[in-house]
Amino acid sequence: MIAAIHYDIKPAELGRHLFDVTLTIEEPDAAGQQLWLPAWIPGSYLIRDFAKHLQWLEASDEDDNPVAIQKLGKARWQLAPCEGPVRVRYQIYAWDLSVRGAHLDETHGFFNGTSVFLAVAGQEGEAVSVAIQAPLEAPHWQLATGLSRISGEPWGFGLFSACDYDALIDHPVEMGDFEVLSFEACGIPHHLVLTGHHYGDKEKLKRDLAAICETQLNFFGTPHPFAEYWFLTMVTADSYGGLEHRNSTALMVPRYLLNGAEYLDFLALCSHEYFHNWNVKRIKPQAFLPYQLDKESHSIQLWAYEGITSYYDDLMLHRAGLIDAGAYLDRLATTLTRVARSPGRLVQSLADSSFDAWTKFYQQDENAPNAIVSYYTKGAVMALCLDLTLRLRSEHSLSLDDVMAHLWEAYGQTATGTADDSHQRIAESLLGEPLDAFFNQALHSTEDLPAQKLLAALGVELTFKAAADDSDNGGRPHKPRPERLTLGAKSLEADGGIKLSQVLHGGAADAAGLAAGDLIVAIDGLRARQSLLARQLAAIGQRQVEVHAFRRDELMTFELTPAPAPLDTAVLTISDPSLLKGWLEA
Ligand SMILES: [Zn+2]
Repeated sequence: MIAAIHYDIKPAELGRHLFDVTLTIEEPDAAGQQLWLPAWIPGSYLIRDFAKHLQWLEASDEDDNPVAIQKLGKARWQLAPCEGPVRVRYQIYAWDLSVRGAHLDETHGFFNGTSVFLAVAGQEGEAVSVAIQAPLEAPHWQLATGLSRISGEPWGFGLFSACDYDALIDHPVEMGDFEVLSFEACGIPHHLVLTGHHYGDKEKLKRDLAAICETQLNFFGTPHPFAEYWFLTMVTADSYGGLEHRNSTALMVPRYLLNGAEYLDFLALCSHEYFHNWNVKRIKPQAFLPYQLDKESHSIQLWAYEGITSYYDDLMLHRAGLIDAGAYLDRLATTLTRVARSPGRLVQSLADSSFDAWTKFYQQDENAPNAIVSYYTKGAVMALCLDLTLRLRSEHSLSLDDVMAHLWEAYGQTATGTADDSHQRIAESLLGEPLDAFFNQALHSTEDLPAQKLLAALGVELTFKAAADDSDNGGRPHKPRPERLTLGAKSLEADGGIKLSQVLHGGAADAAGLAAGDLIVAIDGLRARQSLLARQLAAIGQRQVEVHAFRRDELMTFELTPAPAPLDTAVLTISDPSLLKGWLEA
């Protein structure tokens, strides 16, 4: 029952956000055991240095004599040589309310193994056991995790196991007074675990999630990759995030995503993380087999793992019968709009965006829209273009679905990592034609992808118009509106005026020489106010006016000419349903 590597974890002080952990190693390295903690968590490509939250560390032998510890690096420790078993005790500060870390207070506890479990160097491949104890202050709490249960009641604390360290850190744990909505998909038990107040329709949530899960389980076919599945969901006012794991996902969603106008965004997030069960958790790049968790692990393939997943997340809502073709095209238009609104797409290639995720996509500054392109959104447009290319060139006998089926069979089920050109080679072998031109352009150039031409061949017209207002992210045609003039910058109301948070290349503010961080205090001699900005620019028209702004504490004057809003908002219209031929159900 208890493995030779065993962890005891208990929420020790809820008010101080501390987990107590004891690690017992039966057979430590005779030359002195090394221990380490990951610097990042798979699926979230940023060095997070989880060891910074490890408070203290002590070790003792079987007779309770202290074992000396030497620190070798920011997240690696060396124990003095000793006979087993050796016991290591430490404390973890858990106050990161995100899907990537650990969090503990009087309302609930959550942790990823990457935050709390020290790895036993040289024995990472060994099976481990984990005893998770309820906090003394909250003995009634429940527990939810995809870890294999050895003892304890369902939803109770108890003893769990994992086949190796990689599995141990791939099963997040939620504890508290949560709500569980259980349903089956293809006979597999699924649980939506909800922590936090919400207004969701429980029966609808179960029905809609079951439809999405069944559609994806049937898409990839048997054998299914897990026997049970958990959506561990934290509901708060405004947080947003999701992280995929092998039989669960950790989600953080804003309260009002669970009902109302944004409900589809919640379903799309669930669909996205669920698709990762195959695409990145099992079909994965060579560079992730195994994960190198002490430093950045670069790959130019994130476009395939996040982009293809982003393409299918919405498409699966349509295939599951939850949205019609028009509503699907509205969501696709939003993706096309996001790409069109990134001047950085003309600067950074998709391959570079993937490779540099660690220092660019995950560390965005005020210049990010001008300098980078998202491997999620442009990756999704590339997946769309690849799908439509395969459909058209094969006279609708092939699609991206066939590429995914091949990847699952040849790579996912055999735990073989994909090479940088695997997706191209598979598509070419299925089609019997080279696709060098398409892949080179899509991955290594900054040219726009041929979405418009490909969509037209499937009977869908793509046009770009100016955004009607700040909330217009594209969709089906709106009624015509008067031309809108803009600064070409992201701005917000600030003390004394309007603060520019981002200045987009090619816009009016850029042409005037304004910079991110500038505080505009007056436009054309009038006090600048965010709430009146659109109306003031419309009234000024396309003529040059003076703008006064503070850069740091120095007042500067700029000559600004409001410019028409760029044609960056995608509109998709089905012009000939007969050409869809199975891509969408009209
Ligand atoms: Zn993802």
